[in-house]
Parts: sequence; structure tokens; C-alpha cells
Amino acid sequence: MSEDLKEACGLFGVFGESGGAAAEKTYLGLFSLQHRGQESAGICARVDGRLQVSVSMGLVAEAFPKERLDKLRSDCAIGHVRYSTAGSSTLNNAQPMLVDTAGGQIAVAHNGNLTNGHILRGEFEAHGSIFRSTSDTETILHMLAQPHVVQAGEEGFAEVCRRIQGAFSLLFLTPEKMIAVRDPHGFRPLSIGVSGTIVKTYCFASETCAFALIGATHEGDVQPGEMVVVDGKEMRRVRYADTARPRHCVFEHVYFSRPDSVVFGDNVHAVRLAMGRRLAREHPVAADVVIAVPDSGNDAAIGYSMESGIPFDTGFIRNHYVGRTFLKPRDEDRTRGVDLKLNVVNEVVAGRRVVCVDDSIVRGHTALRRVRALKQAGAREVHLRVSSPPVRNPCYYGIDFPTRSELVAANKSVDDIRAYLQIDSLGYLSLEGMLATVSAKPEHYCTACYTGDYPLPLAGEREYLRSRTRK
Ligand code: SF4
Repeated sequence: MSEDLKEACGLFGVFGESGGAAAEKTYLGLFSLQHRGQESAGICARVDGRLQVSVSMGLVAEAFPKERLDKLRSDCAIGHVRYSTAGSSTLNNAQPMLVDTAGGQIAVAHNGNLTNGHILRGEFEAHGSIFRSTSDTETILHMLAQPHVVQAGEEGFAEVCRRIQGAFSLLFLTPEKMIAVRDPHGFRPLSIGVSGTIVKTYCFASETCAFALIGATHEGDVQPGEMVVVDGKEMRRVRYADTARPRHCVFEHVYFSRPDSVVFGDNVHAVRLAMGRRLAREHPVAADVVIAVPDSGNDAAIGYSMESGIPFDTGFIRNHYVGRTFLKPRDEDRTRGVDLKLNVVNEVVAGRRVVCVDDSIVRGHTALRRVRALKQAGAREVHLRVSSPPVRNPCYYGIDFPTRSELVAANKSVDDIRAYLQIDSLGYLSLEGMLATVSAKPEHYCTACYTGDYPLPLAGEREYLRSRTRK
């Protein structure tokens, strides 16, 4: 179950905030994107014409007490919440990253993962460049600091974005402008928001749910292969790369994004509801109650219930207050089914045939704990339904899946997984079923973690994996 997974990163940026509250609005935007990264948070703002960055480990609310935000009064800012998909969890790797180049200051915030970042970094290191972080994002700044790139101005940003490969949604801030970029495949989302009518404030966010809290409306997306530049009060759209076939990460819909967001043109809640409905048609079962593994399984479970006519109820209660430093259960507690985050509502499951809906199974350990907890609470039958296909391959585009050898579905058949989990039945949504729930063409999504069909080859896979483990 997706408890095994770690999120990608989240970006937010505001330009043209006449009241000086750009950092404050960025804080609110990041707060809405907290589910995309809980290790570190950072804001870079233009204060008196100079960029200032403030980064901290931990959650957004912990990282930015009021007095810290007050020092960042500004009309433009970018922010970042991070989970380390590449590079270790230290303050040096926190973003935005800010550098002084011969052409002036540049700050960057990145969501995604470069598939040739390790090669580009190696080239710089071979010429004596020193890196202060282990994040591939710093490589982008080294590239932007090269004299011929600095001289090229805006075209220099475009040139760098053509040289890097992989998944990247980027926000750049200089003292003059903000630039939002999406890679040519559009792996990760990046949306545009606008507030104000006569004087417009432009904002960018990994997910549209971040616009609500600051009163902005969603005005479309940065397109794959596009660079959107905001300077003064104008917004310009520049195509920096040839259009590749879009390969949006379908896992954003399955698990990562918030249900109130519109991602790749579809509302996440509606997609998950449709996944649950299809799951009920593909894998019906006679049962008394449908429950969800919260929170990411909620919408699909409601869909399953609607389609099957089996009542939905709350079978697990999530404790939202388990911090990162809370003591983990001992191994023997884990095997007894002790779970810090989820508790079974015994009265809902005892003596009943239970359909439990989750979004995915990764390693299988968490799923085992959850179904054992249901059995211990007296469930008569447990039927696990998964609203996506079996995850059989790692992701190289910004999601921190474990290696193939650790993925339970890479090494076991569905029936073997059912036997391992000791449950009465197990059903996964088919690939076709999953892709029928989103509105773009099926070939416009990345499904590599399910199918092994990688849209982009990994430049030097062995070196890449080594570069990740040394971090
Ligand atoms: S491999 Fe899976 S998680 Fe990674 S980008 Fe593709 S669909 Fe998303």
C-alpha cells in the first residue's frame, strides 16, 4: 500500500504581488502542497531588489514562523517542499537553491528527476566544479552560470532546458523575472493561476489545490516543452523544445495529487471515483461493507461502493499527528499489526465480509499489516481491491519507488500475493481500465512502473543507480 512510497516535490511561485505579500502567499501555497514533500521547505523572495532564500528542514508551518516570513516581504517569490527522490535529506539539498552568477542571481526550484543529471554533473566535476549538495538540481545552476549561457539571457535558460533530460517542472527566479518550465514530455504537472483583474498577479503551482487558499483561479497549465516568462506584469509563453509525445505520470492520479486538484486536465477525485467504479466491474465480490485505506484510497472506495451497491463505511481511522520523529514500533509490534497511522474501527468490520480498497501495493509489508489488523478486528472475509495495476518496475522520473527486487509484484504473481497476504481475494484494476478513467489518450501517459515501457532511456543506468546510492 502506498504508505511505502515517498512523494515527489511541490513548487509554488507568485509574481507581481503588489501588497508585498508574495512570500506569505507562497507559504500558503506550499502549505496546500505539503503532501508532496515533508522533509524540507524553502522560499526565495525578492527583497529590496535582491533575492533572499530561507530554507529549513521539516514541515512548512515549522519552517516558517511569522517572524521569518516578515523578513521576506516582497512582490515575487518561489517556494519548494521536498522529498528526496535523488540526493539525501540534508539542509544542503533543500530548495530553492540560490546562486550568484556573472549575470546576476538565479534561484531554482525543481520537481522531478533528471535522467542525465549524473552525467552532466560528472562533466562539471571533471572540470573542477565543486558541488555543495547531492541534488541533481544544482547541476542546472552550474549550467546556467556558464559564461556563454549567461550572455544568452533568456535563450540561455532555453538552451539549458534542452540539454537536461528526464522529468522536470522548474521555477526560476531572478531579480527581474520568473520563468516556469516543463519538460517536453510533461511528466510532472505545473499549473498557472491568476488573481486580480486590472493589476494581475501570476502564480504557478504543482497542483491547482494551492490556488484556492490565495484566491487565485486556475488559468491553464505550462505546456510540455514550454517556458512561461513573467516580467513586469506581462506573461509570455515560449516554446523552447519540439513537442514530444506527452507522457504524464499517471501515478499523480493514482496516489500523489490531492483529490481537489485538476491534474493534466482532469479532477483527481473524479478520476479516482471512476477507477473505483471500474474496479467494481472488473472484480466484483459479494460483501457486506466497502472500506478505504485512507486517505488515497478514499475516492476509489466510494466509487467501488457506488458501482457495486455495497455500503461504504469508515473502516480505518488515520492519525494525522504522527510526526517524522515519533518513535517507530518495534519489529515485533509491527508483525502484530501495530500501526501508528491507521487504526481499525472494530465495529465496522467485525463479523463482516469486507472489501478494502487501496490505491497500490508496493513492497507488500504495509498491506500485510493492514489486512492482519482487519482479521484481528474480527473481519470474516477480507477482499483487497487495488485501484491501479501491479507495480513491477522502479520509476526514474521523480518518484521514489524501491528497486525491482523489493517490489512485491515484480517477484510474485497476483495469486502468490493473495496467498502472501492471507486474504480471501485480491483484484487489481487493469491497465486499460485505469487509462480509461483519464481524458487524454492512453499513449499520452507514462505507465512505466506498471508496464516497463520507459518513455526515456536512462543515460548510463549503472552510473545512475550508483550515483543515487552514494547520496
Ligand atoms: S514510472 Fe510510474 S511513477 Fe514514474 S513517472 Fe512513470 S507512471 Fe509516474
